[in-house]
Amino acid sequence: MGSAKYIFVTGGVTSSLGKGIIAASLAKLLQSRGYSVTIQKLDPYINIDPGTLNPYEHGECFVTNDGAETDLDLGHYERFINRPTSQANNVTTGRIYQHVIDRERKGEYLGRTVQVIPHITDEIKRRIKILGSTGEFEIVITEIGGTVGDIEALPYIEAVRQLRWELDGDCCVIHLTLVPFLAATGELKTKPTQHSVKLLLESGIQPDILVCRAERPISEEIRKKLALFCNVRKEAVIEAQDAETIYAVPLLMSKQKLDQVVLSRLELPLKGEVDLEGWKDFLYKLRFPKHEVEIGLIGKYVELKDSYKSIAEAFIHAGAANECKVNIRWIHSEKLEVETAASHLQGLHGILVAPGFGERGFEGKLATVRYAREQGVPFFGICLGMQAAVIEFARNVVGLNGANSTEIDSKTPHPVIDMMADQKKITTMGGTMRLGANECVLSETSLAHAVYRRKEVSERHRHRYELNNAYLEQLESAGLKASGLNPQTGLVEIIEIPEHPWFMGVQFHPEYKSTVSNPHPLFVRFVAAAMEFAGKTH
Ligand code: GLN
Repeated sequence: MGSAKYIFVTGGVTSSLGKGIIAASLAKLLQSRGYSVTIQKLDPYINIDPGTLNPYEHGECFVTNDGAETDLDLGHYERFINRPTSQANNVTTGRIYQHVIDRERKGEYLGRTVQVIPHITDEIKRRIKILGSTGEFEIVITEIGGTVGDIEALPYIEAVRQLRWELDGDCCVIHLTLVPFLAATGELKTKPTQHSVKLLLESGIQPDILVCRAERPISEEIRKKLALFCNVRKEAVIEAQDAETIYAVPLLMSKQKLDQVVLSRLELPLKGEVDLEGWKDFLYKLRFPKHEVEIGLIGKYVELKDSYKSIAEAFIHAGAANECKVNIRWIHSEKLEVETAASHLQGLHGILVAPGFGERGFEGKLATVRYAREQGVPFFGICLGMQAAVIEFARNVVGLNGANSTEIDSKTPHPVIDMMADQKKITTMGGTMRLGANECVLSETSLAHAVYRRKEVSERHRHRYELNNAYLEQLESAGLKASGLNPQTGLVEIIEIPEHPWFMGVQFHPEYKSTVSNPHPLFVRFVAAAMEFAGKTH
């Protein structure tokens, strides 16, 4: 394979225009023409990674197979192109500076003054080219976080300017911008886009393609005007109207020929026709479901739904697989107490207790588990949700009063969830949890085995605490089954209650691996169990 081609995606006018979705959609189109594509996100903040960021601030932290804690856009990339990403796919300013400063301390700059240009920009360029140099990808799409004009983004923009020069025809720049509709005059306005392209030009970058977010169709006249003022070809002005679902965007972009314009700019052949049959089938099932269920998602970050992005998307994939619309009832765990839980949870066809950290809202999670267990409502606990299920069972079935996780109560008489010895030695916060893909061996007579239909699986983790095996015998003899074990460490990765119609807790995060082409079997079967429960209760 020859050297890779690079596509840079910048954003202008405002943030939150959906660069990640445009990048993922373009990748999907190029992939469906037969190209091997990957997508990378450059984040201009100083944290080394988003692992230590509050979900309220940054939404979910996505985890890759190799254990990188990354931006949630990487989740979109994987869900669209069905290929795993890695640490190399998410780079932050913190990581760039850390690397450069480490090298400086080792004396690797041989006494020279270390500066933003060239040292920081060189490191940015190196990180951009890493994926292209693996030989695995023909096209690398790099999304530059933030908005053009942000102080933080300047070194990235400068790196792109230099790369444009170095790579010549082997790269192109897509600028995503907003074309607002002014209700008072009934017009779409091009001026903000003109200004944002001027800003890019001041930094020495001429975009090749404009992708224009707009609430209304962009007329021929506006297209001409944008092309004229922004120095792009008319066909390279791409309209991106608001879509009913992010999963419709690849089709909209295909209609607008974004992939064709990009390939022609990169001097690459169109190869075959775009094959989106499977994707269209998924969209059809999403639009015209035959069934409907309501599933409760219990967590403490429910005010910002992006905190549970991958779970919500996994429900969309699993819903389509079942031709079922999954309505999520977002329930704040702090609102739940044993006495009131029923009033919040009534009518649900399935209950998911979400991942999380810390004490706040935890008793509400326990009350939820109890309700699901006693009422026979399909239950799915993920990470902290699985730990809550174990604690609830220990307290109310085994009779271990005050059982808890040492994360929540360090003095609990029954630490059924505890930190492993190797975690206890760790004093720093970033990147120190059990992270990334771990193997799990399933017991052949379990629900887990029936769902996955295989003996060994690999799933991604992000946690410090574990089921304490000192209590396993007691839990098992009371009816909790450890149905998935880590073959290397013997740690319990999956628990279930065989007596219950559908009760499962997983220490890992299956949501990270659910994609449009590969909906996660645990979510698919959980939704199916909710449908069955709905059928019985109506
Ligand atoms: N707080 C728990 C732990 O660290 C669970 C983490 C999670 O839900 N991701 O083990």
